[in-house]
Amino acid sequence: MQAALALCFRAFSFPYMQKKIKIGISSCLLGRNVRYDGGHKFDAFLIEALSPLVEWVPVCPEVECGLPVPREAMRLTGDGKSLQLVTIETKVDHTESIMLWTNEKLKVLEQEQVCGFIFKARSPSCGIDDTELFSESGRKIGTCPGIFSRAVRDCFPSLPVEDEEALQEPNIRESFLKCALLCQSKFGN
Ligand code: SF4
Repeated sequence: MQAALALCFRAFSFPYMQKKIKIGISSCLLGRNVRYDGGHKFDAFLIEALSPLVEWVPVCPEVECGLPVPREAMRLTGDGKSLQLVTIETKVDHTESIMLWTNEKLKVLEQEQVCGFIFKARSPSCGIDDTELFSESGRKIGTCPGIFSRAVRDCFPSLPVEDEEALQEPNIRESFLKCALLCQSKFGN
């Protein structure tokens, strides 16, 4: 099944592709041990299906902004417009450090000509729209984008972005790849 899907992607894409498409990805989905608990979230199906077509650009906002592995779990607090990334037990606010790093990282991603991004669902840093949002008192008040993925989407509004769960759907994968190819062609690649 997986091999058939990979072949399907090749048949769809190779006639138009001069080289692999650069896609940003949450590092834990590639199997890197960067999660708060020291583990990863390797998505074998997605990585095996897309790797023949894609040059991965792995990003872990929490580790790359200077947080250790393992680290205390965090969550988002705020009103949805203003977000804070705060550790759950000790209430340490890491918003400033991750945003300082993000502002520099956005410039790097632009220079790298990344043509799409695959984010880890529900992460306070990487989730797209399904990250839990809490009040300062700890009450769940809704969902919102993760703090890094929101910055990426604000900076590159036409960049195709999905999470690994949405990309289990063949139609969404195909649409994502088409948009990424279009983006690549605009870069002249
Ligand atoms: S979801 Fe994002 S921040 Fe969390 S471990 Fe994965 S890449 Fe790092």
